[in-house]
Amino acid sequence: MPSSKTQVDISEAFSRVRQRFERSLPDRADAMLALALDQKTGNELSQLKAEAHKLAGASGTFGYAILGNLARKIEQLVVDILALPPELRALKIPELNKQLFVFKQTVSQVLGSSEPFASSDAKLKAEQRDIWLMLDNTQLLTELSTQLQAFGHKVQQISNFEGCIKRLQTENPALLFSQVKQSDGADLFKQSLLLNLLQQRQCPLLVFSEQDDFSLRIKAAQQHADDFFVQPLDVSNMISRISELLEQAAGSKGRVYIVDDDLMLAEHYQLVLQNIGIETQINTQPQKIVDELIYFQPDLILMDMYMPHYNGAELAGVIRQYPQLRRLPIVFLSSEQNKSVQNRALAHGADDFVTKPIDDLQLAQAVTVRLARSLQIKNLIEKDSLTGLIKHSAIKEAAELEYERSERSGKPLSIVMLDIDKFKLVNDTYGHATGDVVITALATLLRKRIRKTDRAGRYGGEEFMLVLPDCDAKQAQQLTMKILENFVILHFNTARQPFTCTFSAGVASTADQAFENAEQLIKNADEALYRAKRAGRNQVC
Ligand code: GH3
Ligand code: MG
Ligand code: MG
Repeated sequence: MPSSKTQVDISEAFSRVRQRFERSLPDRADAMLALALDQKTGNELSQLKAEAHKLAGASGTFGYAILGNLARKIEQLVVDILALPPELRALKIPELNKQLFVFKQTVSQVLGSSEPFASSDAKLKAEQRDIWLMLDNTQLLTELSTQLQAFGHKVQQISNFEGCIKRLQTENPALLFSQVKQSDGADLFKQSLLLNLLQQRQCPLLVFSEQDDFSLRIKAAQQHADDFFVQPLDVSNMISRISELLEQAAGSKGRVYIVDDDLMLAEHYQLVLQNIGIETQINTQPQKIVDELIYFQPDLILMDMYMPHYNGAELAGVIRQYPQLRRLPIVFLSSEQNKSVQNRALAHGADDFVTKPIDDLQLAQAVTVRLARSLQIKNLIEKDSLTGLIKHSAIKEAAELEYERSERSGKPLSIVMLDIDKFKLVNDTYGHATGDVVITALATLLRKRIRKTDRAGRYGGEEFMLVLPDCDAKQAQQLTMKILENFVILHFNTARQPFTCTFSAGVASTADQAFENAEQLIKNADEALYRAKRAGRNQVC
């Protein structure tokens, strides 16, 4: 039939144009960056504006709503910059660079390329990349390197700004810690190429200055530095800030569990969400929903309202029957416009509605907003404010959950209880605030040293618990020994003199002995801890 033939032709032609568009994207992203980085004729910003405008329109047409939106933001930013007096424009350039780099990154994600530092994979590994230290003071440099290494960071010492720029061409540090002024007088804030490269790579910058000076702080803020440290350097504070920054860079934006009987649609949602860094899992069968939820531990459920066998409200009802799933937010995806039907579903345990059809950008935004809220609430409820670790009840819940999982999988589970030695003495000698620093340091160390699937929690004042799935007693013992070795070399600075601390720990594992429940396993680890205390502390039993 001629009409259908015509249709085929058109769609083929469209897909050819689309492919050409896709192929042009990496070069166009690079070209925009080059325009922002290398402004010679003064005409670059206008060219950039025109290019961003074209990309904004075309990306939407070819179904890349996320790219279209980014390009639109870039266009608007350039318009804002052009409206500024020329001498003030430089202030906004770092922000522009950042957005252009995000655009470039998103292009490679969308196209599935694997550029060395653009892929989300490389981003995920931020915690494994090196920390670069650029400091003239060799004593401080050595002390910092030792302490950072104790926390499991890899450290590289960089001798000067030129060396740093050279290495940035081919390497991608996790972050740069740099002094403001080198001994030869070179000034960090005059290194525009260096600063631009850092921004391109979205590499955090921590600044160290010998004196506290407001104008230097302003300059650091203009360069979007992530922190400003002054002599004498508070090493513990600096290390917890570094860990926080690296965790942010590496962290997942949360987990979403998708329930939709239309697998193609579910996979499409999955792609859209993965593309913005959200971990996802699709329900395979309605009957398996509870098991899968307990395994995957999502922060949000995205659920189709109408499905052939069980509808969304019924499944939500089942989920709410399980205490450990009761708090999990459920967002219904539905073409239902009828408010009373929507309200009935809300009464059945749904938290929100997103109306179908929904385009990719709307879906990404709707999920991001709700996920952020869910994570915020979860953090408020679960996390301890001093250490950022999960609290007593949450780590116990994690232990119970992992106990159930290990029962099913047959893989061993180990629990470690740790307690700082003679901690009362630390408080009495150096004060409660210093005691808090020690607690925070151990918490940071625990977080750094465990695997992604392990959990660490603050069980009590100076008592911590590790939950280590798929790990036998020997491995747990080795891990804990390693943590102890790293802990005892940390120096805590006080006005009086630096001091060190130790801890004792007890390990219990389902690999050694049968336990009826998680509580028994915890009790066993606790008993081992007290054996370690009685045997003289500073050891693992
Ligand atoms: P042991 O080696 O037997 O564990 O001796 P210890 O002194 O560590 O044991 P104990 O449990 O008697 O003392 C723990 C102290 O920890 C008591 C408490 O005041 C203090 N502590 C509890 N929570 C905090 C906190 O958040 N910050 C500070 N600075 N101290 C805390
Ligand atoms: Mg103690
Ligand atoms: Mg104690």
